[in-house]
Amino acid sequence: MCRPLRLSFCSRSCGRESRNTLKTTIVHPTLGTVTVSQTARARRISIAVKPSGEVRLSFPVGVSAKRAVAFLESRVEWIIATRQKVEARGVPCQYTEQQREALRQQAKAWLPPRADELAAQTGLGFRSITIRATRSKWGSCNAKGDISLSLYLMTLPVHLRDYVIIHELCHTVHHDHSKRFHDLVNSLVGGREKELQKELRQYRI
Ligand SMILES: [Zn+2]
Repeated sequence: MCRPLRLSFCSRSCGRESRNTLKTTIVHPTLGTVTVSQTARARRISIAVKPSGEVRLSFPVGVSAKRAVAFLESRVEWIIATRQKVEARGVPCQYTEQQREALRQQAKAWLPPRADELAAQTGLGFRSITIRATRSKWGSCNAKGDISLSLYLMTLPVHLRDYVIIHELCHTVHHDHSKRFHDLVNSLVGGREKELQKELRQYRI
């Protein structure tokens, strides 16, 4: 079994996250570096395996670091298996500044007119469209109908870009992921929403 871990926290709180966050890294004998954070926001002890293979352990205030690490220990096999799965999917592409700018230009030229076309075809309207270098999601839409699209949509095949735009257009009607929302999306993509979603998941931003 693994050697016991010593865990020490920096006393300084990390400014970017919530006020009570303590963040540090430990070197686990099997898993390597693990980022450990205690936050006021966390509701339970949780482990995340990032696309890079990095392991993050977070736990709420009120739970001891010792208990959190014991939880980590109990999940080592699961983490290794998950990491293999995540790594098999591939690490997201790294883009240079130049490549990102080229994508941004393409996105600015392609996405807004395409969104106009799809809005006209579907009868759905939106208020504004913004192109961002977002890597956490392909797109989003607020309650006012302002759509934000990731410039990395340009790395997807055209039918998946359309699918993302249609998904966001449907949010101008339903501001949630309710059944009514999915029914609307599905009706606008010829009943292929699940299939397209599955295909989209194979791509990384
Ligand atoms: Zn959505």
